[in-house]
Formats: sequence, structure tokens, C-alpha cells
Amino acid sequence: MSEFIKFKCDLDNFIQELQTKLVTNTKTVEELLQNKSKTYSSFVKPLQMMEEKLEHFFTPLSHLNAVNNSKETQEVYTQSLPIITEYSTKLSQNIEIYKVYKEIQINEESSLNYEQKRVLSLNIEHFELSGAHLDRDVKKRLEEINIRKSELTNNFSQNLLNATNDYEYIITDKKDVDGLPSSEVENAKFTVDGITKYKFTLQMPSYIAYMTYGKNEKIRESLYKAYVSRAPENAKIIEEILTLKNEMSELLGFKNYVEYSLSSKMAKNEDEVLDFLQNLLKNSKIQAQKELNELQKSAPKDLRSFDTAFYSELLKKAQYDIEEEQYRPYFEQKNVVTGMFTFLNKLFGMKFVKVEEVLWHEKAFSYDVYVGDTLRARIYLDLEARESKRGGAWMHNYQTHCLNEKGEEQLASAFIVCNFPSSSDTNPSLLRHDDVVTLFHEMGHAIHHLLSTVNENEVSGVNGVEWDAVEFPSQFLENFAYEPQVLKIFASHYKTNETISDEMIDKLVRSKNFLSAMGMLRQLEFSIFDLRVHNGVYTESEVQNILNTIREETSLIQTPQYNKFQNGFAHIFAGGYAAGYYSYKWAEVLSADVFYSVIDEGIFESKTAQDYLNIILNSGGSKSMQELFKELMNRNPDTTKLLRLNGIK
Ligand SMILES: [Zn+2]
Repeated sequence: MSEFIKFKCDLDNFIQELQTKLVTNTKTVEELLQNKSKTYSSFVKPLQMMEEKLEHFFTPLSHLNAVNNSKETQEVYTQSLPIITEYSTKLSQNIEIYKVYKEIQINEESSLNYEQKRVLSLNIEHFELSGAHLDRDVKKRLEEINIRKSELTNNFSQNLLNATNDYEYIITDKKDVDGLPSSEVENAKFTVDGITKYKFTLQMPSYIAYMTYGKNEKIRESLYKAYVSRAPENAKIIEEILTLKNEMSELLGFKNYVEYSLSSKMAKNEDEVLDFLQNLLKNSKIQAQKELNELQKSAPKDLRSFDTAFYSELLKKAQYDIEEEQYRPYFEQKNVVTGMFTFLNKLFGMKFVKVEEVLWHEKAFSYDVYVGDTLRARIYLDLEARESKRGGAWMHNYQTHCLNEKGEEQLASAFIVCNFPSSSDTNPSLLRHDDVVTLFHEMGHAIHHLLSTVNENEVSGVNGVEWDAVEFPSQFLENFAYEPQVLKIFASHYKTNETISDEMIDKLVRSKNFLSAMGMLRQLEFSIFDLRVHNGVYTESEVQNILNTIREETSLIQTPQYNKFQNGFAHIFAGGYAAGYYSYKWAEVLSADVFYSVIDEGIFESKTAQDYLNIILNSGGSKSMQELFKELMNRNPDTTKLLRLNGIK
């Protein structure tokens, strides 16, 4: 049994040590390549473990920089990035390694197990998707395309940022900010020559605040118009991006960018994804229309695009007034964490035993994770907000379950980081229900990594899991945070010890599903557009036509002509979601499907829950999720379960 690594990071000598390690690694690669007989165990395994050890060295720095950020961590981190990037780029373009992988794949075809075969095929695929194996001329063109593409995406983001920052709406009449939460009014307030005014911008919190609570519809319209017509110059950038992506895909042997993008994902092809999205659309539309009718009835005038957020908020308040402050005493942080452990014990037989060790912060804790009596992993929880911590919540894997070169077992470890209210000796940390959901979500990612029994680290835990399936285990676990049986394990008032009532839980669920079909249609519009626009080369007006055609199906309120939302769709034109935006819904369907099998069987008697542990969690990325899902459910995913989860009938 190998020990867990002691978390440490020596900032003073980090760069020096990193450089030494990289020099050694580079030499190791050369030696491995010179070796006469190259087999899986003499070539692939040592290479894999070399990279795993580098992760062990590097992860503490990126972790510290995110949770205990300081000038020092920033400096070392910034200095390390180009060094590590140069190293990884060289390695990922080392065509000699690619050739050896191909040889081993053929030579050991009959003797390798499926985990090892997948390591090879994923690595080979990775090389081929980058074009590293192609002729010099083609490679040169691919490089040019990449450079130009990153310029363009950078310009796209910059234009959007400039447009966002250039706009402001100044309110002088106090009446126009009536109804906004006082914190938002405070944020907007400024004084010129003794006169108080209020500034609203297109920055997210400010924009959303006025669109949701602002009573003056003229102001809402102005803000909306400014928002959806930002960065018109991005239309030309989109044209060029589409052209380049298409050329790149063809050079790499694909029909178009969608085919290229899906080649490494769980979804098989464009038709499969489109069918999936159209199916959700067909089944959500009637309810979405009903929701809109109800919303329309609540409003004194014909609803327009810039009205929906405002009237939705009023209706929501009238129907399900969730007073957050009323809920928080039921979600005291320690109760929630212990309760989640109890839940995981009842569901999967997991046990969490606190480890006494000094970590990077006094509010960070580690636990050894057992399944039955067997020690399986270690988890680090760092849940409270502080100034030196990056915002948001995330899971980060540290060690990965595998067998090392000597055949010894290495156990997995991972961090969960959140930004919950901080506690003190006198004040407990009381969570919102959303925070509870977040914690379950990240725990879902963590156990996907920690409970792996795979022996090859590159396809163990969250490694090697397809991009569109990664959120399946997190969303699966998150769904339980709305279940009465689960909530009642831990949601007790921290002062009176009274358990949360069914009515309170019911309100949480109904509030989550409020206008969910309308929300679904919006997400489907984005997803279908993303897929359609990436299957070829289109001009500015063709892009607009594609969007307009989709909107005939997805948009229940006439979208104004000036709405050029695509020019601000950074997720797909400047981020990593190109021909992949559907993944949100895709993973939700997988998780809802398995979740309801567990619910319908009785949560703590469920056979599916056990199978989920044995098949999905244990297998990590060692098989395609397509295959694992079939093994688990004996059928394809059922989209109606997502509708059920969203209360869509
Ligand atoms: Zn997630």
C-alpha cells in the first residue's frame, strides 16, 4: 500500500525544482525511445508514471495559487506556466512517441487488457487530432490556423469586453430604482455635485439586477437593446473563425468541425445530438407555452423580451416565496458535511475518517475514505470563503488510482474547494440551499475520481472521461440534495434541532422548477445553433438565418431584429464549447435517468445505486461512457427523465 503524498509546496525553490524535473523527464523520454524493445510495460507505463509524478509536484502550486493566493504564489505560478507549457507541447508533438504507441498497439493487440488499449487509443487520437502525425506542409498550415484562430478568439472576447465596459445607463430619478435589493442600489449609487445618481452597466450583476427588479420598462428596454447588440464587429470574426475551423477539420480528415469535435466525445454524430435536442424541444414546448401564458396573465401588458425576467421574478415571489434566511439555519455547514458523509455511507458504504494533519489553511481538513473496511482514497475539503481564495467551487484531482511501474497500488486523492460563509467560534457557517447543492455536485465529481479501481492512471478516475460525460456523476449526486429522505438526514435547525419540514422541501423543488420549460427552450436554442453553425462555412447573413430558423421553434416571444446574440456567444466562439454546448443537457439526461432509477427502487435499497458504484464510479475513464451507461442501464439514455426532473410533464 503506498502512502498518500504529504501536501507541500516550497515556493522558494519551486522553479528550480521544476526545471530540474523537466530536464530529467526529457532525458527519460529520450532513453525510453532509444530502448531496443519497447513494450507497454517498458515504455508506456514508465511514461505514464513520469507524468503522474509531475502532476503530484505541480498540483500543490496551482492549488495554493487558487486557495491561498498571494503575490508570491502568483509570481511562481506565472513563472512556471511557460516552462511547463513548453515542455508539454514538445511532448505532445513528439512524433516518435506516437509511432511507438502505434507499434505497441499492433504488437500487443492480443495481450493488452482494455484499460491499456484505451490508454493507447486515447493517446494516439490525441496526437492525430493535433495533426502532429501529418506532413510538414499540412502541419505548417495547421499551425498558422491555430495562431490566427487564437488571435480571432482573443479579438472576439476583447470586443465583447470593450462593448460591455463602454456602456452605462445613469438613473437620476430615485423612483426608477424602487424595488431593487438595497445592496444593488448601494452598488449603483454615486454622487455628483451633491446629486445622487445610479449607474447601471452591462456587467453581469448590474445588468441582471435591473432586468430582474427594475420597474421602468423603458430603462429595461435600453439596457436589453445595448446588451444584445454588443460587438457587431464580431459578426465578421465569426465568419473567419468558421472558415478556419472548417479548413482545420478537413486537413485532419473530418467532414466538418462538428465531426471533428464529436470524434472525442461520448455523442457519436451530429444526427444523434440533433435528434436528442429536438426530442427535448418537442417535449418541452407545450409546457413552455403554458408557462408563458401564465406569466402573460400575471403581467398588465403584452410581454416583450425585456420583460420576462422582471415579471418572472414577481410571479415567483407571489407563488413560491423562498426566504433564504428562513432556510439557512437548517443548513449549518458542519451538519451538512457530516450529513453528506452519512448519506454516502448509506448509499455506497463509504466511510470518512478525519486525518490529523496540518494543511495549507486552518479551515482545510482531510479525510481518509473507506468503502467497507478498505482504505480507498483521501479527500481534502476547503469550504469557506476568504480573501485569498478564488471565487466559485470546484473539484481538483491530485493523486490518481493506478498500479505503478513496480505493480504497487497507488490510491487516489482530490480537493473540494467552495466559498461558503466563514465560521468563527461564535458564528456558525449557515449555508443557502444552493450551497448544499454545490457541495453535493463537487462531491459527485470527487467520488468519480476517488473510487476508481482502474490500474492505468491516464484512464482512471476523471482521467479519460469524455468531455460531454464529465458532469454526469456530479449532476447525479446533486439531484439528491432535493430529496426529502436525504435532506432529513442533516437539515436540522442548528439551534432548535427541529428537522426541516416537507413543506419547506416542497417549496425548494417547486422553486427550482419554476418556468423550467421556458429555460429549457432557451438552452436548446443555444445548443442547436452551436451545432448547426459549426457544420460548415457561413457568411454573416447565413449565420443570422440559421439562428432565425431555430428561433421559429424555440422562441415563444418574437425576438427583436436588433438582437444579435451570436456576437456575444463567447462560450462557443471564444471558449471551449464549440460544437459542444449540448453537453450541459446531455450530461443532465444521463444523470436524471440513473437518478430516477435509484429513486424508484428506493434510495437506500437501490440495486442501481450499487451498480452505479461498481460500473460508473469504479471504471472512471477506462471505457467510453456510452459503453458504461449501457452496461449500467441495459439501454440508451431516456430523455423523459430529464423532463421529470424539471417538472415538465
Ligand atoms: Zn461540475
